[in-house]
Amino acid sequence: MNNKYLILKPKWLLTVNPAFEVLDDYAVVIKGSCIQSLLPAAEVHEQDQYRDADIIELPDHVLMPGLVNSHTHASMSLFRGIADDLALTDWLKNHIWPAEAQWVDPQFIADGFQLTAAEMIRSGTTCLSDMYFYPDIVAREAQNLGIRTVVGLIVLDFPSVWAKDAEDYLHKALAVHDEIKQYSLVRSTLAPHAPYTVSDGPLKKIAMYSNELDLPVHMHVHETASEVAEAENNSGSRPLDRLDQLNLLNPNLIAVHMTELNAFEIDRLAETGVQVVHCPQSNLKLASGVCPVAELQDRGINVCLGTDGAASNNNHDMFSEMKCAALLAKSASGNASACNAIQTIQMATINGAKALGLGDIIGSIEVGKQADLVALNLSQANTQPVYDPVAQLVYAANSQQVSHVWIAGECQLRDYQLSNLDQDAIIGKAQSWADKVSKTQ
Ligand SMILES: [Zn+2]
Repeated sequence: MNNKYLILKPKWLLTVNPAFEVLDDYAVVIKGSCIQSLLPAAEVHEQDQYRDADIIELPDHVLMPGLVNSHTHASMSLFRGIADDLALTDWLKNHIWPAEAQWVDPQFIADGFQLTAAEMIRSGTTCLSDMYFYPDIVAREAQNLGIRTVVGLIVLDFPSVWAKDAEDYLHKALAVHDEIKQYSLVRSTLAPHAPYTVSDGPLKKIAMYSNELDLPVHMHVHETASEVAEAENNSGSRPLDRLDQLNLLNPNLIAVHMTELNAFEIDRLAETGVQVVHCPQSNLKLASGVCPVAELQDRGINVCLGTDGAASNNNHDMFSEMKCAALLAKSASGNASACNAIQTIQMATINGAKALGLGDIIGSIEVGKQADLVALNLSQANTQPVYDPVAQLVYAANSQQVSHVWIAGECQLRDYQLSNLDQDAIIGKAQSWADKVSKTQ
C-alpha cells in the first residue's frame, strides 16, 4: 500500500453527500485507497503532515464521485453494431443469442471486458454491475484491470456456453460467489436473466440464497409491454406479481428497465423497497417503452442508471445516458422540473451504489469512503461560463472532458490517458474479433 498522501485540488468539489454540497476550492486528501480528509485548499500548505504529499492541481475542473453503471453486459461490446434497428425479441432471439452461442468463450469474455473497461474508465465510470456468461473471467479481469465490478451470477433455464440447465447455473453461481472473495474490487449479485427465461423452481432457490447470503438479485423485469402481455396470456399473472408470490420483492431486488408499471405495482415497489435501474437509451433504441422515472422518484423509490450492453445502446457513456435520462423524464411526465440535475447525478452515483450494497463504500466523496473519483475539465467552450457546475455536468458536458479517474485511490486516467490499460492492444484484439464475427453475419 502507498502510504504517501495524494491531494487533489479541484475548482469545484461535487460531494454527492446527503446535503448534496458543492464546495469551492476544497482539497481531497487520499491515503491508500481511502478518502482521508476534505479541507479548504488554502489549509493544505499549513499542515506539516502534507509536506511530502503528491498534489494534483485541477484549476478548471469539477471533481465528482466515479459514475456507477448499474446495468450492463460488458463483454457484449464485441457485438457492438452487429444488429441494429430491431425490436427486442427479434434482436435477441434471431441475432444476439445465435451469435453468443457461436462466439462467446473465455477469451471473448476477457477481450470484450477489457474493451469495455477502457471505454468506461475513459468516460468516467468507476463501477459497473454486469450480467453475462463466465462471471469468473469477468471477476478476474476486473481485479487485474483495477475497475470496480459487481459480477452477475447469471441463471437461465436453457443451456448456454456457460451452463447446461438452471441447476448447473446455480451451482456455478455459488462457486463463483465463493471464489471472488479474494478480490478487493469485486462483488456479486444473483442474476436470473428475466421472468420469461427463468422458471419458478430456480427463482425460489434464488430468493432463498439472496436471503441467506444477503445478495442482491439483478434481473431484467417488465422490459416491454409484450413481455407483460405474454405472461398474462400464458399464466394469468403479470411478471411482477409472480415475483411477489416468489418472495422476490424486497430491497435486494434490482429490477432493470421497468417500462410497464401500473399504479398497484408502483405501490408494491414503494412498500417493498425494490431498486429500479433505468436504461433510457437501450429502451429508446429497442422501442421497449419508457420507465416512469419521475413517478418512481416521487414515491421515494431508489432509481439508478445503466447503459445496458453495447449491442443495444451502443456505448457505455454515462454522461450521455444522464442527459438522456433527464430529458426523457421531463418529456414523459410533461414536467420540466422532473428528474432535475441533482437527481440525475444521484441516479448515476449514490443511488447505484446503494442498490448494489456499496452505499457505505462508494457513490459520494465523503471521509472514509473509497477514493473512486472523476475529474472533468470545464474550461472548454461547451461548458463555459459556469454558473452551476451540477447543471453543467448533466446538460452541457460530455465524457471527452473527463481528464482524470481514480479507483480505490489508484490513478486509472491521467491527463486523458489510460494509466494501466494498453488501449492499442485492446482495440487490436477487438478488431480481430470483428473480422471473425463479421464473416458469419
Ligand atoms: Zn440488459
